[in-house]
Amino acid sequence: MSLDSKSLKYESKYIFTPTLEELSKAITPGLNENFAEVTLSIIDCPDLSKAPYHLASSGLTGDTIVMEYGSPDYLLPLVDKSKIYDLIPLIRNISGYENKEFFIAGAGAGPHPLINQNCEGIMNLKVDKNGKIINETHISRVTDDGSMDVQKVPSNETRSALLGNVFISEGKVGKVLKVSCKKRIGSENFISAMRLSMAKHFKDTTVGVGGVFLIKTGKVKQHVMNDFSKSPINTEDELNNWLKFYDMSAPLIAVGTFVTDETDFDLRLQHFHSFSMHGEAGHYHYDVTPDIVEYEGYFNVGARIVRIDRPESSLKFGRD
Ligand code: ZN
Repeated sequence: MSLDSKSLKYESKYIFTPTLEELSKAITPGLNENFAEVTLSIIDCPDLSKAPYHLASSGLTGDTIVMEYGSPDYLLPLVDKSKIYDLIPLIRNISGYENKEFFIAGAGAGPHPLINQNCEGIMNLKVDKNGKIINETHISRVTDDGSMDVQKVPSNETRSALLGNVFISEGKVGKVLKVSCKKRIGSENFISAMRLSMAKHFKDTTVGVGGVFLIKTGKVKQHVMNDFSKSPINTEDELNNWLKFYDMSAPLIAVGTFVTDETDFDLRLQHFHSFSMHGEAGHYHYDVTPDIVEYEGYFNVGARIVRIDRPESSLKFGRD
């Protein structure tokens, strides 16, 4: 059971793609304001399918796309359970992606029909030339006693629900921007430090970035959505009461996207979910151990933005 991808509203446009050198220049001031030690370099991507990254593909290169599907409007104030997206036909419907190998990684709502419960999705899957699926997607849910339960999905489970922000590429190894930071001294999180700086640098030009980062040391505040609320959620406070927050421990592997601005596609500005090999996973907010935190990330720029199933008008909360 999922929506027919061909019947969904599809919007797509090419955007400005800076060189990785220029992206590096753009995000450096924001990182320096927020972290005591910052190192940036443009390198050949290490094999991200290996530990400690555990991605479904080795790299982040080739026909890159920053994609958003669905909307917080389909979750709030009350859920629309029909909003189920099968990522494979969704991507096969994008021009240029009809047949080729692809890798998708990012933050979305997990496929609630799989476990009959709302959950976070840490989307991380590859479809190779022969159509074989390599699926490293994890889901995270809140159990009846309020603890967190994390599972890897079956390899044929390629659905997400409600909303998501993912980076799509051919998954090839190529040049990426490596960002390493230690000790947080400012108030922005790792992603907002880069995003705000990038927005300032590129001014009225839209730039989109996707990739992966590792929280190497310390703890981060992350949420997991509770099961669907039976009463409407109308305010930010009600939303924060419904979300379940946890301090989760490194190492955590986060995947997602960030953009300079909403554009006429009403994009979510940043969205990362992380998973681990030790049973913790959720939606990244910020680290709670600034003195000892250490981040290491690999990023690439998106050449296109694709927006799928955008509602006519949209809520302005529920996007942190
Ligand atoms: Zn999220």
